[in-house]
Amino acid sequence: MAQHKTEVEVTAECPSCGALVRLGPKPRVGQRVVCHSCGESLRVINLDPPELDWDFEEPTPESEEDWG
Ligand SMILES: [Zn+2]
Repeated sequence: MAQHKTEVEVTAECPSCGALVRLGPKPRVGQRVVCHSCGESLRVINLDPPELDWDFEEPTPESEEDWG
């Protein structure tokens, strides 16, 4: 018997419009996705349960401030 293997696609709710956004079968924390409904740039912040947050653009990750 051929076993039909189905990949379970993980979905999470868009924090902006509430639509279910597909993250693929194996999402990772930090993965970036774009909401198909509102076009918002989002990022995976949690996997259990799957949660999305806005993908804030960080200006320059490597810039270091002088610590007095
Ligand atoms: Zn959305």
